[in-house]
Amino acid sequence: MSREIRFYNTLTRQQEAFHTLEPGHARVYTCGPTVYNVVHIGNLRTFLFEDVLRRTLQELGYRVTQVMNLTDIDDKTIRGASAEGVSLREFTDRYIALFFEDIDTLRVQRAEHYPRATDYVPQMVELVRRLTANGHTYVLDGSTYFRIASFPQYGRLSGVLLDEVKAGARVDADEYEKEDVRDFVLWKASKQGEPVWDTVLGPGRPGWHLECSAMGTALLGESFDIHTGAVDNIFPHHENEIAQSEGATGRPFVHTWLHAEHLVVEGEKMAKSKGNFFTLRDLVERGHDPAAIRYLLLSVPYRQKLNFTFDGLAGAESVMRRIDNTLRRLAHTPAAGDGGALAATDVAAFEAELLDGLADDLNTARALAAFHMLLTRVNQALDGEGIAQPVRDRLDEAFGLVQRTLDILPARPKAADDAAGIDALVAERTAARKGRDFARADAIRQELAGRGIILEDTPHGTVWHRQ
Ligand code: AMP
Ligand code: ZN
Repeated sequence: MSREIRFYNTLTRQQEAFHTLEPGHARVYTCGPTVYNVVHIGNLRTFLFEDVLRRTLQELGYRVTQVMNLTDIDDKTIRGASAEGVSLREFTDRYIALFFEDIDTLRVQRAEHYPRATDYVPQMVELVRRLTANGHTYVLDGSTYFRIASFPQYGRLSGVLLDEVKAGARVDADEYEKEDVRDFVLWKASKQGEPVWDTVLGPGRPGWHLECSAMGTALLGESFDIHTGAVDNIFPHHENEIAQSEGATGRPFVHTWLHAEHLVVEGEKMAKSKGNFFTLRDLVERGHDPAAIRYLLLSVPYRQKLNFTFDGLAGAESVMRRIDNTLRRLAHTPAAGDGGALAATDVAAFEAELLDGLADDLNTARALAAFHMLLTRVNQALDGEGIAQPVRDRLDEAFGLVQRTLDILPARPKAADDAAGIDALVAERTAARKGRDFARADAIRQELAGRGIILEDTPHGTVWHRQ
């Protein structure tokens, strides 16, 4: 690989050089949404970190196979479907469709696989069968549990201590806290009003944790490279995934565990249950630009908490305007004859710094800082001698790299339509001035000012930017 990538691995609690198990092929499992509701921007922060992970691996030469599961059966989806009196499939289909709309709006690249848990029940049953054969399970009242005392490595990922656990205590809920380190349910005995599968484990349905182990091994193999989620997934979800997978296969499940810190609102985790959440739809309806939301969510490196505020979003929107203005100014300024005030080596240095930043545990702040530095240099060059054509061509390549990795440049189609109309007015004003029709020229300037467009007459002609 052209560049070494370093990741902070939750399992070893240190930064490590990344190597794949299979040369050149990165196999990545990302815990997906529980499809009982529209995702909030906290969930989306995690999905965006995974998007940058995927894009970085690709840019640095890996073939990526990414799996993102869709949890379409768990305590929450069952509760939601039954509250509405619709089938689990109908209920979850709706939220899966909305989820894909949201990630498209945020320019998240599609993973290779989006398995639905309900399509993998036979693989889950097989996994439990193997765990039973290896002495890791017991059955009580028709449910099958994982006996954590049978797996001495339990706790390695999250740091929970096994010897503080009351022997035989168990938990049936999908989600629980660290204070409840217990035997957990793999297969839940059927209950009135819950979907049921008739299997060799008896009539019932899978527990949440089992789902990811089964889908991960089915699609990526018994051992693979990277598993991600947010920090709340470390315990119990990922701890349980390791126990289930390694207990069944006897092989290391995942090499590198990456966890995103939370999006918080006034210091508290953004969560559906707390009611302190915004969906992407809320923000877009209020007139916010999805590209600016993407920018904001990527601007803080994934291992730091990100405090969501509307001031922060306004700041991201003004950064987007600055980027847009610079790109347009560049497009409307003729190339410098020779020389010019920006060198191709400056562009190459930017590209190297962007990739070094991303290879440094996905340091998006470092990558974005490099981009802003480049924009400053471009503006300075345009203020001075301009930029020669070969360097402009290199800049186009560099902007292509920004799009492949961060994808934060302003949305072109809408801006372009708008821009064409503004260009026409600017040309008309130039013609009016040439014809000494200053009244018409002033009227155009004022009309554009009313739309937030500022004109600047330079030696190379008139350029415009948004306020
Ligand atoms: P869920 O739909 O609840 O399973 O969550 C989907 C993903 O979003 C999981 O990886 C969660 O850990 C993650 N997540 C949930 N809340 C937040 C938050 N406030 N900030 C970042 N990630 C979150
Ligand atoms: Zn999962």
